[in-house]
Amino acid sequence: MSRTPLIVGNWKMYKTVAETRDFCLRLKDEMAFTKGKQVEVAVAPPFTALSAAAQALRGSFISVAAQDVFWAESGAYTGEVSAKMLTEVGCHFGIVGHSERRQYFHETDVSINKKAAALMKEGLIPILCLGETLSERQGGSTLVVVERQTRQGLKGLAVQDPQKLVMAYEPVWAIGTGQTATPNQAQEVQAFLRKLLAEIFSPNMAEGVRILYGGSVKPENIGELMAMNDVDGALVGGASLEVKSFAQIVRGSISP
Ligand code: PEP
Repeated sequence: MSRTPLIVGNWKMYKTVAETRDFCLRLKDEMAFTKGKQVEVAVAPPFTALSAAAQALRGSFISVAAQDVFWAESGAYTGEVSAKMLTEVGCHFGIVGHSERRQYFHETDVSINKKAAALMKEGLIPILCLGETLSERQGGSTLVVVERQTRQGLKGLAVQDPQKLVMAYEPVWAIGTGQTATPNQAQEVQAFLRKLLAEIFSPNMAEGVRILYGGSVKPENIGELMAMNDVDGALVGGASLEVKSFAQIVRGSISP
């Protein structure tokens, strides 16, 4: 089964509504080269700019992702946003479990699992992020850590359609550091994740679910990463903030 490459730009806490509108309109033009090619693209602006992004991207193949979600449908949860609210503003994907949320906002595998379930219930596609810290890698526990994050993050989720789930392997030591995992490091973990998906769900799911790599992806390294069998795209932080570099990454993800 061939998997369509997926490139997602995670803008983190960058870009106002006006900047988002401008970026998205320029990105639409810049993406003309993808016509007839097998690739999917999404941007993940801050909550305040989701609606503007969806409006600016209307009529294009580029979709909108939220950077987070809360697991309850509604209630007294000051500051939170539900999956239904994300649907209403035009989201297609929702990122959950990003390492910055695990680190700064103390998110656990349990809360991440509830968030993924809330997205799925609403028909949104979770992009489940996981990855080891530097000390975990140096201590030789990378696969133990990602297995725990995967099993707990996906616990109880009944998914049969591989298009309804995206995984993102993001080694914490590679995020925003300029230090990318080598293609072989990414491949080793991502092949392992695919085997786990077969155990958790089914061989069909494992074969079809896209597993992205994230961590200092740039136009210069996307090609070698995408050459790996189990790298199906990228979750891009810093390099997704400029239209040109993001577009070059999309270009580099397309099979010749
Ligand atoms: C990210 O935030 O998901 C990320 C991968 O960031 P960067 O590309 O800047 O390392």
